[in-house]
Amino acid sequence: MSAPTTPRDRDPARLTVLAGPTAVGKGTVSADLRARYPEVWLSVSATTRAPRPGEVDGVHYLFLTTEEFERRLAAGEFLETAVVHGQNRYGTLRGPVDERLAAGEPVLLEIDLQGARQVRESMPDARFVFLAPPSWDELERRLVGRGTEGPEERERRLATARVEMAAEAEFDHVIVNDVVTRATDELVSVIGLAPRPANPVAEGAPLR
Ligand code: 5GP
Repeated sequence: MSAPTTPRDRDPARLTVLAGPTAVGKGTVSADLRARYPEVWLSVSATTRAPRPGEVDGVHYLFLTTEEFERRLAAGEFLETAVVHGQNRYGTLRGPVDERLAAGEPVLLEIDLQGARQVRESMPDARFVFLAPPSWDELERRLVGRGTEGPEERERRLATARVEMAAEAEFDHVIVNDVVTRATDELVSVIGLAPRPANPVAEGAPLR
């Protein structure tokens, strides 16, 4: 499913958008990538959802009130925004992304499908990667297994995931997240980074 590559495609100092359904392991794969390639800059999204235990403001997300989110949206500060799973708002702030790209750094966005479509509109040169589960049953198992959502929220997320799975063909590259380090290796190759040894702790890392 990967598109043919040109020298421009292989330039790591570009924007890479990593999307895919809930609980597929986008956070785990991007954390594994960052552990091996600290020079890849992972955008910190803004959100109106409440922090989960252990999440740190400014590190995992920028936790904003709805008022602050809307103020920054009206000021044109967002590259993309979405209401995800029918309730909370999420968005990528444009300023830091532009700065890193201008400095020639590889930039990674880990966002949902709606956001990926907006980035495609404004930055068609970005590379778009879809992280897919090995199977639907496996996706359900991962969502239940991580235990961060109650049954109602889980159902809502699975409903969104069904829609997201159908959008796979819109992406330039599809990577199946069967084994984290293998999926990361594939992402490394898509970005055009030189291979480096795997991070030994990634295999047992919790999925998010
Ligand atoms: P969670 O609440 O589990 O951290 O994230 C829920 C969903 O929001 C995930 O699918 C994640 O990819 C998506 N998401 C996180 N940050 C952003 C963002 O900045 N923009 C968009 N469009 N989606 C985001």
